[in-house]
Amino acid sequence: MINVLIWNEYRHERCQKEVGEIYPDGIHGCIGKFLSECEDIKVSYAYLDMENQGISDEILSSTDVLIWWGHMAHDEVTDENVSMICRHINGGMGFIPLHSAHHSKIFKQLMGTSCNLQWRHGDRERIWCAVPSHPIANGVPLHFQLEREEMYGEPFDIPSPDETVFLGWFAGGQVFRSGVTYRRGSGKIFYFQPGHEEYPIYHDRNVQQIIKNAVRWSCPENREHKCIECFMAEILE
Ligand code: ZN
Repeated sequence: MINVLIWNEYRHERCQKEVGEIYPDGIHGCIGKFLSECEDIKVSYAYLDMENQGISDEILSSTDVLIWWGHMAHDEVTDENVSMICRHINGGMGFIPLHSAHHSKIFKQLMGTSCNLQWRHGDRERIWCAVPSHPIANGVPLHFQLEREEMYGEPFDIPSPDETVFLGWFAGGQVFRSGVTYRRGSGKIFYFQPGHEEYPIYHDRNVQQIIKNAVRWSCPENREHKCIECFMAEILE
């Protein structure tokens, strides 16, 4: 089984009625529901207003893949939690930051750049698969459309990705590297752009398929992932 922890800020759904109507169980609940359709995936949840923000060393030690959705409260995530999470990613835990998580402290720390981008409310997006043979593109059409999505456009201030699996084109003319992969330490990272809270993006079957694929791709092959400090401690023993 792949143990997936879905972390959600879980503020928009509770303070914006229209967002709560799209995601009555929270964005995490929606993602968890379609991931739970997979027999090889076991889901658990955490959100910002839980004790210690739903994060602990013990929880992360039993997590194979961490999915992260945040937007309005990136700064509230404690630096201690950010360091702890980055340590686990470097030790092999998979990491899937979604949409506005491009500005999460975790992603910015892993990238080492501002991760700034261009944006605009409400546009039609066409997602193009640039690497159809990639495991994250498994079962996904060569292109599909999201009728309403927030426009994220280039330049996107990230280091050159290992792979650009998906490209987004917006009706307003902009383009974006919408699905990119990295390795940091032993950990695999997949950033995926779709997922603005005001539109039912995570109800889209193709988006769901991509996230399922990304979970399987980013799951560490050696499940007992260890942070570099743990490796060092063992070597020195
Ligand atoms: Zn957004």
